[in-house]
Amino acid sequence: MPGVSKNGLTITQDLEKNQIRFCGKVPSIKEFPERIRAYASVINLDTNLGDIQMNHSLVNGSLRFVFPKTQGSLQILKYRGGKAVDQSDDHLIFAPLTPSNCEINPLMIGSTRSCIIKKFVNTDGGSINVLHILVDTPGMEDFTFDINHKTCIIRGAEEEEEDKSNFLKSERKYLISMIFDCSCCTFDAKGTKRRHQILKDGLLHLQLRVSSSSKLITVS
Ligand SMILES: [Zn+2]
Repeated sequence: MPGVSKNGLTITQDLEKNQIRFCGKVPSIKEFPERIRAYASVINLDTNLGDIQMNHSLVNGSLRFVFPKTQGSLQILKYRGGKAVDQSDDHLIFAPLTPSNCEINPLMIGSTRSCIIKKFVNTDGGSINVLHILVDTPGMEDFTFDINHKTCIIRGAEEEEEDKSNFLKSERKYLISMIFDCSCCTFDAKGTKRRHQILKDGLLHLQLRVSSSSKLITVS
């Protein structure tokens, strides 16, 4: 649930139906005011909810439930619908661009279901634009940031936990590679600073300065 902090999480238990419902809301981000992010789902248990223990944690946008010493099965209900990630923008491409690195989060119920959102914002009415990119990176603790005129590469990994249970052992790794595949745009590698890139609660908000001789999608 990238972007959801502990304050934004609600968990309720329905003891009659043996259901756990959870909902997470992300505070709006200034550059993406139209993107209302929310996640929700229902866990159905075939065990009496009143008889079992339930622990949960929310770390860097990853919600984990643990039911110690419990037998039975559970079902996580997914919301239906949603559209494919919008890749219609010209100029910038994410490489390699395969469906596997743009999966849709099935629990997302907000207005966007993309894991990568991008837009250009023209800052001075001229040729300088800031490319804002919001990427789901749940669990990512830190990242490296390499940029030159034509490419920008981000590498990151999930923070290691010593007491992870066996089936949660996989450590997520991230590689975000962006290339300008046009003759009109370049990254402003000197003007784009590492400190402008914000990682919070599993959401990475990149702010990259771009020079272009074309009119890019701008937002006032
Ligand atoms: Zn271009």
